[in-house]
Amino acid sequence: MNDALKKSGLYWQPLGGNNADQISGHCYCYTDVARQGKKLSTTSVLVDLGKFDNHQALGIRNSAAAVPDIRDILSDRKNPPQALFLTHSHPDHLNGIVHYLKAGYRLPPLYAGKYTFMILYDLLKDFQIGQDLWPKFNVIEDGNFVKKGSLEIEVLASSHTCFDSFGFIIKSPNAVVYHSGDMKLDQTTYFRKPTNLRRLKERAAEIDAVVADFCGIYADGFAVRETETFEQLVRLIKKSRKQKIFLPVYPTHPEMYITAFLAALKLRKNVVFYGNSDFFNYLKMIIEYGISFEKMAQGKIEVSYSHNREEIDALENNYVVIGTFNHIPEVFSANRQNSYGIITAKTFFNPLKGQLNLRNIPFATVDDYPELQGYGHGFFGDYEALNNLLGQRPVFIPTHCPTYVIDDVRELAAYCKIKLIENTPKNNQIYRIKKKKIELISSSPAKWLAVIYNNDNFAYMTEVFQKPTSGHGFLKRTISRRRCRKRFKAFLQRRIRQEQPS
Ligand SMILES: [Zn+2]
Repeated sequence: MNDALKKSGLYWQPLGGNNADQISGHCYCYTDVARQGKKLSTTSVLVDLGKFDNHQALGIRNSAAAVPDIRDILSDRKNPPQALFLTHSHPDHLNGIVHYLKAGYRLPPLYAGKYTFMILYDLLKDFQIGQDLWPKFNVIEDGNFVKKGSLEIEVLASSHTCFDSFGFIIKSPNAVVYHSGDMKLDQTTYFRKPTNLRRLKERAAEIDAVVADFCGIYADGFAVRETETFEQLVRLIKKSRKQKIFLPVYPTHPEMYITAFLAALKLRKNVVFYGNSDFFNYLKMIIEYGISFEKMAQGKIEVSYSHNREEIDALENNYVVIGTFNHIPEVFSANRQNSYGIITAKTFFNPLKGQLNLRNIPFATVDDYPELQGYGHGFFGDYEALNNLLGQRPVFIPTHCPTYVIDDVRELAAYCKIKLIENTPKNNQIYRIKKKKIELISSSPAKWLAVIYNNDNFAYMTEVFQKPTSGHGFLKRTISRRRCRKRFKAFLQRRIRQEQPS
């Protein structure tokens, strides 16, 4: 155990979500030091174990991934972590698990939703990890309680871009923390439970702190709702008056597969699922999870999974092609007269845009219709509303954003009565939470572990100090500090104007 953890308190340590600029490789450690009579008891749990996407930028030759450094936590013999809770199935929250197993580490029992485990099984098979090395799996769902030592954890549904996304209310004798996980407040999710606002309201008076996903707060208002994405798709397909619609979706966002399908169904257009093996892998899991496209179709439209010419011809030139694809094969005979494209991600489908241009096929993009993208993270308005729902009581501890976002949002947050943690948290710091009092008690430089696989198929981990990596490697998506600051200024001015008597 870290020497800093001597007094009673609920200790929070971010290990990947509070990086200088690019954020991924999420992992958080909660350690509760509780008084039991004259003695202190210690209970640690981990939340998420993701991978860092931009590992190439760390400059380690032949690296296959990078993960947060939790070696000391895992090898703590006196107080080993008693559980690893997973908020959802996205790689930046989940994929660190396989690399640690490959490096020979044993992991505590896992707690996650059914869909998260389906994705994890797939990874374990992919990485050829023998079953004897698997940690214990415990399936959880909205409303469940899990007890670990002095901690009691309630599972709450969260609206995000995959099934079984959760937040957790972590209750200790020292403090109650709502760990939001990736989420927005949207209550219009299809085929999965939205963020459990009812329960948050019920427990509002108890909650001292919110470890909050601030990934999307540099946009104002509420994050786009799923019904808005659906309605925009319907509008564009209708307006195009074309017979064949090409609608690529982002592979790890199953909610978009479904939203696109529902739009096609609404307009009585047949659906062709078409894409690479990655796409069909996810599609298979969505179906195994329990989503039946045939059932939804109720015989009103045909659903095709093949690229066979006869089968495509039988759809009588009336279909929407849904999938992850960057080219359009001949079998669709797409041309300017009969086809229209809808591009639902910023850069992912750039080669497809080129193909559509080459064939003179008109298309809509997220630049013109931002709702097309589908959003998984709350905007600033979501957090304003969450704070109000919680009675403006808790202290917000932002994560999942560059540290400068937290520094720059302070003035706006204060105006909106959102209490932010005094220090801006950085990876590997440790904070002590005692009711609403949060203090920084230790800071040491954070590291990524670059993972290298040799021929022996064993993971070798090399330490690299965390540093800004925007503009290096393949990831350049982080918003610039200047733009971010300008936006927060504009949001603040808007609010001041709105409050002035006219
Ligand atoms: Zn996510």
